[in-house]
Amino acid sequence: MPPLSSLLLAAALSAAIAWAAHAAGSLSRRGATAALVVGTIAVATGAPWGGYLVTWFALTSVLSRLGRARKARHVAAIVAKGGTRDARQVFANGGVFALAALGTWWLAPDAHGHVLLAAAGAAALAAAGSDTWATEVGTWARATAWSLRTGRHVPAGTSGAISLPGTLGLAVGALLWTLTAAWLGVIEAAAIPAVLAGALAGATVDTLLGAWGQARRWCDRCDGATEQAVHVCGASTRASGGYPWLDNDAVNLAATVTGALVAMLLIR
Ligand SMILES: [Zn+2]
Repeated sequence: MPPLSSLLLAAALSAAIAWAAHAAGSLSRRGATAALVVGTIAVATGAPWGGYLVTWFALTSVLSRLGRARKARHVAAIVAKGGTRDARQVFANGGVFALAALGTWWLAPDAHGHVLLAAAGAAALAAAGSDTWATEVGTWARATAWSLRTGRHVPAGTSGAISLPGTLGLAVGALLWTLTAAWLGVIEAAAIPAVLAGALAGATVDTLLGAWGQARRWCDRCDGATEQAVHVCGASTRASGGYPWLDNDAVNLAATVTGALVAMLLIR
């Protein structure tokens, strides 16, 4: 376990970043508290883990902001949550990474478990990151998107939809996040293929679950699909398919768990 001084320093640094993100509108109040927990664990684990999380958070926040106004017109009526992340979203994206980081605290520095947990943590965050890239790039490009489930054209940004720019964004995101983990020293170069495979598998599970399992809702007033319980028009929506408990956060959690497991299975 890291010494108390390291923990306090990590908490102070994470609090500053979480507060700034809250002030900038990237995190809700409870989202900032969750980020403080995840951030403290990551930073206390060491500079590579802390640096990876901070880089991930900064880049995905910037990506969400780029062209937010432009995107808002296209997806405001569909997606359940906007650019402000709440506590559930923070844990869905960063929870597995934090657990992997925490696990290393009780291992000897030369234990093989370090290699496994580092691959798991890096792949979990890379999976969440590449899914974010896929969604943001696909939405930003106003790409023609198809629903995997129905094969029909749907608005870009719809869960379970695929588009050419979105799929390219996913692949590039998975590669960039894996290389960033290696560059920052979270993983060794030998672990790159396993982590990349984990990231791709996780982001793919995200898309597949989004297409078939995720709760779908319908607004009768607007006669349109949405993920919102209360639509932007003010009308209550009704369930129209999928599992009611499988919301976007649960799908993200499944993606990060998949990424971590695949990376650990493939590591040598
Ligand atoms: Zn409506």
